[in-house]
Amino acid sequence: MNAIRPIRTPVELSEAGLVGPEERAGIEAVAERYAVAISPAMARLIDRNDPNDPIARQFVPDAAELTILPEERADPIGDLPHSPVEGIVHRYPDRVLLKAVHVCPVYCRFCFRREMVGPQGLGTLSPDAMDRAFAYIAGHPEIWEVILTGGDPLVLAPRRLAEIMERLAAIDHVKIVRFHTRVPVVEPERIDDALIAALTASGKTAYVALHANHPRELTDDARTACARLVDSGIVMISQSVLLKGVNDDPDTLAALMRAFVETRVKPYYLHHPDLAPGTSHFRLTIEEGRALVAGLRGRISGLCQPTYILDIPGGHGKAVIGPDAIRGTEGCYSVSDYRGREHAYPPEK
Ligand code: SF4
Repeated sequence: MNAIRPIRTPVELSEAGLVGPEERAGIEAVAERYAVAISPAMARLIDRNDPNDPIARQFVPDAAELTILPEERADPIGDLPHSPVEGIVHRYPDRVLLKAVHVCPVYCRFCFRREMVGPQGLGTLSPDAMDRAFAYIAGHPEIWEVILTGGDPLVLAPRRLAEIMERLAAIDHVKIVRFHTRVPVVEPERIDDALIAALTASGKTAYVALHANHPRELTDDARTACARLVDSGIVMISQSVLLKGVNDDPDTLAALMRAFVETRVKPYYLHHPDLAPGTSHFRLTIEEGRALVAGLRGRISGLCQPTYILDIPGGHGKAVIGPDAIRGTEGCYSVSDYRGREHAYPPEK
């Protein structure tokens, strides 16, 4: 319960009371295929007395991961067709992903890059590959934003992060550097002065997109870590995945979005779960997701509203799954309010 090291193996899962003897065989088969890690902070947060604990569901392997559906795919959001050089994904004109590392402090059971991350994944970019990635960014003046993702870029040592930021600082057309991370929640102790100095010293505008899916993840330690980042001038936004058995009810979603806002993290994206292999037990239907998101309107402040997003399989980018609140043509629209009542726009009188 008071582990100081991540839990990484089926034996350690059993010793930590997270897996029963009858589950061991299935879990071992999953662990052979997909990476496992539960950080001490997340292991402490799991309620061993709740068989449906939403934190456990995100991190403890499940034999259901061995069920692969025909529509699931190893690269569900289509990174590879848009990768001009190793480590870069250039899907939209003004921004690139820079995937410097494919290691994470936890391995989420629903991960969209589960075939790429972990000990058997794509690893860390070699110095030569890094040089080619930076040369690509420098050679494309349309790149305004660089998004460090992976893997989790904040597992890199502050010295490595500072090197990356220095190299980006030397590229004038890059104005924004964004980090996609779970670290402030799952390893809040990493958010120290050295890491913050590494993220801020270059003078580029830095954003941190925090991935969390349940309000309990926003512990006091996580909120302190976020406060350190925000107080240093970093802008924080959220990313969550809509997950069956984790946050697929209106109260939990509302509490999650409010927890972000209280922590000075602006809700940004709520992702429909991707078609990653062995993750069908996490997926809702689009209609179920749409109803949940529509229920947030009117229930919680506009500050708390995320954008519900589908990544179109094949690498075609993101599409907003809107509530279709307005229908009709110019001069004759029908608009639904948050209670589902219809109104004419413009009004008849
Ligand atoms: S932290 Fe992100 S990249 Fe890593 S396992 Fe979780 S979802 Fe995947």
